[in-house]
Amino acid sequence: MEDIDYGKLAIEYSKKYKGKIQIKPTLKINSMKDFSIVYTPGVAEVSKAINLDERMSWDLTWRWNTVFILTNGTRVLGLGDIGPLASLPVMEGKSLIYKELGGVNAVPIPIQTKNVDEFVNVVKNIAVTAGGIHLEDIESPFCFEVLERLQNELSVPVWHDDQQGTAAATLAGLINATKLADKDLKTAKIVMIGAGAANISLFNILEKFGVNPKNVILGDSKGPLYESRDDVEVMKSINRWKYEAMKKSNGDDIKEIKKSFENADIIIAFSREGAIKEDWIKVMNKKPIIFANANPNPEITPEKAKKAGAYIVSTGRSDYPNQINNSLIFPALFRGALDSRAKRIDDFTAISAAIELAKYSAEKGIDTEHIIASMEDKELYPRIASAVAEDSVKRGFAEIKEGKEYFYNKAKEIIGLN
Ligand code: NAD
Repeated sequence: MEDIDYGKLAIEYSKKYKGKIQIKPTLKINSMKDFSIVYTPGVAEVSKAINLDERMSWDLTWRWNTVFILTNGTRVLGLGDIGPLASLPVMEGKSLIYKELGGVNAVPIPIQTKNVDEFVNVVKNIAVTAGGIHLEDIESPFCFEVLERLQNELSVPVWHDDQQGTAAATLAGLINATKLADKDLKTAKIVMIGAGAANISLFNILEKFGVNPKNVILGDSKGPLYESRDDVEVMKSINRWKYEAMKKSNGDDIKEIKKSFENADIIIAFSREGAIKEDWIKVMNKKPIIFANANPNPEITPEKAKKAGAYIVSTGRSDYPNQINNSLIFPALFRGALDSRAKRIDDFTAISAAIELAKYSAEKGIDTEHIIASMEDKELYPRIASAVAEDSVKRGFAEIKEGKEYFYNKAKEIIGLN
């Protein structure tokens, strides 16, 4: 890889372009007459039409193609709690990726609160004009409650990218990695290092995909989660999502981290730099698969993991092979949800997107250094969008009940691939 200082370049770009997104009109204004149509007096008729029938908002405003990105900046990238204002460059970047890869208008709205009720109320109140809600960079367990409540209380799709987006991209990688290693994901022995937003959501999605939770060991900074651990009562009261995952997992009641690696097929780490030791990989089953996704530095470097015998290694970084990247999922996922006018998206939507990403990547050709497609592969996005829209239609969430080909062509057109 070229030695490029991306941080320095990002500061220079930010100074030069003064942010990454802007609002542009959809039509050209040529005369006073045009002003009178887009604004008063003409616009009043449009408002009246929506006031009479609110479904008209989907046809007469930008709502059909607009998602709000909400964060409180409490867990931004690997930077921790840097607050809503400092999160803005990240949210602007997310918004740019939405437009570039999914053709979606995504409006960054960082908000200043660490109170769950207040956060939920703000989102509920502003969601009235949104086509969908994207939650981003919110700490756990706050994020679990916010997602659960908003999914139940809103009639537009709600997605938390650090939970479901990460899980979907990882699942796609796992589907193809296990194929290459001749393993069956559903019966494989899996160790998950880190029990935060990413891995708790992935654990639930893996279970819904068909993985036996008893074959999975979840661990945090104190080691594996098991029923008789001395902090279980505290866990139950402050983080029921982690507690419930603990109850379902670790069928053999393993209490020690190195022991959990014995004969394991797959390690999925979303935790912290240095959390995996080379010695632990040496006791794994043959063809070990290691997903070391802490950002910016993985739990173990691919070089060290390979030296210890790893067959496939993935990270969250673009300068190593097999990057697990949420951007492969979220722009297209919302493209499909918006085009089918889905009222809901959930973990099964994430699974549909993951399966399509894995399938598309396999069609293009996979090997141990290329388990999933790259972000530059633009043909991928209409494929995922149409799979998501088809899933919404099949599961009764969609208002626009067309076939997969219709959604594929529509996504291609909006993304600008025609
Ligand atoms: P989180 O703060 O919600 O959870 C982190 C978990 O890691 C906690 O359960 C903590 O106890 C555990 N942990 C910390 N040190 C540990 C250690 N030494 N051994 C075992 N467990 C340890 O964070 P998250 O949102 O789940 O993200 C975790 C990491 O994954 C971050 O570095 C984040 O940037 C990265 N991440 C990467 C991607 C990606 O590349 N696609 C996506 C999401 C998150």
